[in-house]
Amino acid sequence: QLRNPREPEFQQAVHEVLHSIAPVLESHPEFVAGGIVERLVEPERQIMFRVPWIDDAGQVRVNRGYRIQFSSVLGPYKGGLRFHPSVNLSIVKFLGFEQIFKNALTGQGIGGAKGGSDFDPHGRSNAEIMRFCQSFMNELYRHLGEHTDVPAGDIGVGAREIGFLFGQYRKVTNRHESGMFTGKGVQWGGAEVRTEATGYGAVFFAEEMLAVRGDSLAGKRVAISGSGNVATYAIDKARQLGATPVTASDSSGYIVDDAGIDLALLRELKEVRRARISDYARERPSARFVEGGTPWEVAVDVAIPSATQNELDVDDARTLIANGVIAVSEGANMPSTPGAVAALQEAGVLFGPGKAANAGGVATSALEMSQNAARQRWSFDDSEAKLRAIMADIHRSTFEAAERYGRPGDYVAGANITGFERVAHAMLAQGVI
Ligand code: NDP
Repeated sequence: QLRNPREPEFQQAVHEVLHSIAPVLESHPEFVAGGIVERLVEPERQIMFRVPWIDDAGQVRVNRGYRIQFSSVLGPYKGGLRFHPSVNLSIVKFLGFEQIFKNALTGQGIGGAKGGSDFDPHGRSNAEIMRFCQSFMNELYRHLGEHTDVPAGDIGVGAREIGFLFGQYRKVTNRHESGMFTGKGVQWGGAEVRTEATGYGAVFFAEEMLAVRGDSLAGKRVAISGSGNVATYAIDKARQLGATPVTASDSSGYIVDDAGIDLALLRELKEVRRARISDYARERPSARFVEGGTPWEVAVDVAIPSATQNELDVDDARTLIANGVIAVSEGANMPSTPGAVAALQEAGVLFGPGKAANAGGVATSALEMSQNAARQRWSFDDSEAKLRAIMADIHRSTFEAAERYGRPGDYVAGANITGFERVAHAMLAQGVI
């Protein structure tokens, strides 16, 4: 805390990991002697830079850009870019720190990083977005490369932004280096299923947790927050597995639709018209809009928070529990507060933490890197089968690690322990650097 003052989200993420790995450190004195924890909580490199751009009115604007290259011990730095006004050093560091363990869990040989800017894309024209992305890349390009650092999308960075960012990288480096960015359009080096992977993966993880209790998603009511990339495809896959997703949200509030979310309408509103979630209720008689709220007050069997950090607090958790929730699978990064996680686990709710449950996105990014390196293109079905197998593997390894350390059913501990052990062994082997 002394070293990283005013970084509450980063401290929250570090605290959660350190709490889980205490028994690992006790049984591995070599990790303590090797200074693994002290080294891990300090990013290998932190980059902060000015991003000047000109808006449509001709006015000069200045945002701040970040890239936190946290750990490359298992592979090139890998993690998304977030464009949102709430982005600051604490948020990017918490996300980068989480990414180390998530990426280790995928078993795909990728290090951990995160970046972004406090730029707000809402209400900006295409031309403004493009100028911003180009200015952002004018600095960031020198720190990237397929063997160095491979960014991807996150909040506010979707297909459009990735296109502009990749285009500018190509321009300033004079290299068409497909493997330096993931989440690319499938027509120009992107991989099938990458767009769907995080949402699909969070649903697969829920299905794996339910299977342990001999249950499944079929016939369940599901609450999903957000209406972006992760939420959209969580809704899609939940429906395909026979569940009824009944909510979606954005920062203005949420909608509940007891007939089940109409995915085509949601996508038309959010991806094409770039409208607000309240417009969904205006066009769909079975739905209503609740201004300012979060969907956790709706009675459901399963919840998949897929918007942002700390969006599900202890009161929300108690409401979900009172309404009979049996599983929570985190599509977003750290959407549940520590109090919410404790309440859900104490009540016996199956709880899949983001670093395991939403790892399908980055795992599929690694598949995109493999395809780029081999100049291959795998089919949708083949890629989805690989994603499903990876999620099953992540579930199994986290489940088993929790059992091994006397915390059966505790996926938080299992994910932190598995990720930490993989990183710690590699750090020991590679020396104090
Ligand atoms: P998008 O930008 O596509 O969507 C984000 C959604 O969350 C929007 O509906 C947005 O609403 C809402 N939201 C964002 N910030 C807030 C806030 N402060 N309060 C309320 N609602 C908010 O992002 P993604 O779907 O890509 O990301 C969602 C989460 O999933 C993030 O935590 C991200 O880190 C995580 N994640 C994403 C991965 C990916 O592959 N995309 C991979 C792994 C994790 P509004 O438009 O009103 O802001």
